[in-house]
Amino acid sequence: MKGNYYLGDGKFEMRPLPQRPLGPGEVLIKVEACGICGTDVHIYHGSKGSAEVHPPVVLGHELAGQVVEVGGGVDRVAVGDHVTVDPNIYCGKCRFCRMGKKQMCQDLRAIGVTQNGGFADYCYVPQEQCYRLASQVPYRWGAMTEPVACCLHGMDRAGVRQGDTVCILGGGAIGLIMLQLAQLAGAAQVVLSEPVEQRRELALSLGASAVVDPGREDLGQRLEELLGAAGAGVVIECVGGVAAATQAVSAAARGGTVLLFGVPKSGTSVQLNLDDIFQKELKVMGSKINPDTHGRAAALINGGKLRLEPLITHSYPVERLEEGIQKQMADDSIKVVIEGCGI
Ligand SMILES: [Zn+2]
Ligand SMILES: [Zn+2]
Repeated sequence: MKGNYYLGDGKFEMRPLPQRPLGPGEVLIKVEACGICGTDVHIYHGSKGSAEVHPPVVLGHELAGQVVEVGGGVDRVAVGDHVTVDPNIYCGKCRFCRMGKKQMCQDLRAIGVTQNGGFADYCYVPQEQCYRLASQVPYRWGAMTEPVACCLHGMDRAGVRQGDTVCILGGGAIGLIMLQLAQLAGAAQVVLSEPVEQRRELALSLGASAVVDPGREDLGQRLEELLGAAGAGVVIECVGGVAAATQAVSAAARGGTVLLFGVPKSGTSVQLNLDDIFQKELKVMGSKINPDTHGRAAALINGGKLRLEPLITHSYPVERLEEGIQKQMADDSIKVVIEGCGI
């Protein structure tokens, strides 16, 4: 057993993974695919993830694989099951866990963040974290369950309804998942704004009503032309940057909702147009991780409701993780997945 350990300061190293007997309720998963997340890129650059990272640790929280061994008392999954893992483990005891806001848990632990995760050939996981994948679903799609689950939480927060107009800022993996979820939620029109042409084309092929190049076109003007009214009812920012967050507020219609979903670098702040927020009576909100949405995300993927293959543009074996992270930052990639181990 081996994993690609993150050592801090942007350094990785393949090391043996300590083998141990399974605890009660624990399962061993042979990792088949693990996605590289924007938060892994942030961790690589020295920011924290959903929780604090203490190297050395194996990152990778978007994993899918096969159960190969089960500990005592395991009754939810069996050897041979294909599963996707919800990485986030809540304490269940803190003030937030006890008031239905587990994503705010004060003692949040996460597989691939605070304990060894999926950039390895095997991973130890509590059975409660496992959700079954249909056998015909490729593991690389299963590895997309966590980002889909996070997007579902954001969609729940934003409350997209049938007939709403939606504007998505950013056409990376998250923007393109949000696009599909907005369509499934019954949005009348979904406009996606993205500077990279290849991503705009993909958005159109995935059913976007229209795409906008924010470098060359005026988003507000285009929205008015496309939607026949000023601004979109729901704006979903999937970039995590200053320009997009500022634009999100101005792209919202009167009475609209702005979901700031993209994960920013630590310390990022923007100037808010308070007058705009007052005059338009905007609801501006954040969204963190995937409380109680992993099962619904797995159900959507098992049910064939999402097109995930076009989003997965690159794959690398686990020992080339750092190259994968570099590629995840590049404009020509959408989602990079780590699949298999070459040594
Ligand atoms: Zn993630
Ligand atoms: Zn808690």
